[in-house]
Amino acid sequence: MTGLHGLDGKVAIVTGAAGGIGAATVRRLSEEGVQVVLADTDEESIRALSASLPTPSTWIRADVRDESDVTGCVDLAVRRFGRVDLHHLNAGIAGSLAVLPDLTVEEFDQVMAVNVRGVFLGLRAAFRQFAAQGGGGAVVITASIGSLRGSADLLPYQTSKHAVLGLLHGAAVYGGPLGVRVNAVAPGIVPTELFAATPDAPGGRDDMVTRAATTPLRRAGTGDEIASVVAFLLSDDAGYITGETVSADGGAAAVSTVRP
Ligand code: NAD
Repeated sequence: MTGLHGLDGKVAIVTGAAGGIGAATVRRLSEEGVQVVLADTDEESIRALSASLPTPSTWIRADVRDESDVTGCVDLAVRRFGRVDLHHLNAGIAGSLAVLPDLTVEEFDQVMAVNVRGVFLGLRAAFRQFAAQGGGGAVVITASIGSLRGSADLLPYQTSKHAVLGLLHGAAVYGGPLGVRVNAVAPGIVPTELFAATPDAPGGRDDMVTRAATTPLRRAGTGDEIASVVAFLLSDDAGYITGETVSADGGAAAVSTVRP
């Protein structure tokens, strides 16, 4: 599906581009005529995906926790395509499922480093480049239903995803006068590799898919359904939207827990 306004000919950086949601966004943006820089630590997957895209693209092995890697993504985009218009700050990890008394400081810090520091570094690099280009630009952060709701078994993850809403709101307020829009998508449950390390654990992948069957739409989402929201928010069709978090969660966030 193509046809969103203002995407054709643009240049985008997508982090976590090898993963379920990132790869779907990369494909969707490429179908819209966007030249994409695919960034991920999984070099083999992004190289293969980049080679399969309909619009010219490139890839870079980049760890979003690392300042110089994040700057390197922008440098590559400018070298190869001359500018950067769009960012999808999407790389993330689920981390430990341990409940509060059992969590270690290392487990907590590990998730915050990727999911919060990574988004901060990506936003900063984006804003520096937008300024160098004379303003304008759009960013989408992948938040989560865990940005809005809590459960006992994903504490570092949920904390990190609440924190990115702080980055979102601050960046949107700062960016508005500069013509920069910053929004977030909050997926519910999408079966990806995010919980691959814990397929059978409570709160793990299989459990998440079971939980998805209790949402109003009675199913998990797909990467393509999240990518549609990201592409829309990055496009001119979302020109008056900034600082917003769009849920794509099958209605999960709408459910009251005190009434069935
Ligand atoms: P995924 O595991 O398929 O993809 C995540 C990608 O991020 C992987 O390709 C991984 O290599 C990459 N990555 C991890 N750490 C990195 C780092 N330090 N630097 C660069 N790349 C790194 O998972 P996904 O479901 O596609 O997740 C994408 C985003 O969506 C994440 O931010 C996640 O929190 C969010 N999200 C996912 C779900 C879901 O149910 N799958 C729900 C809500 C939010």
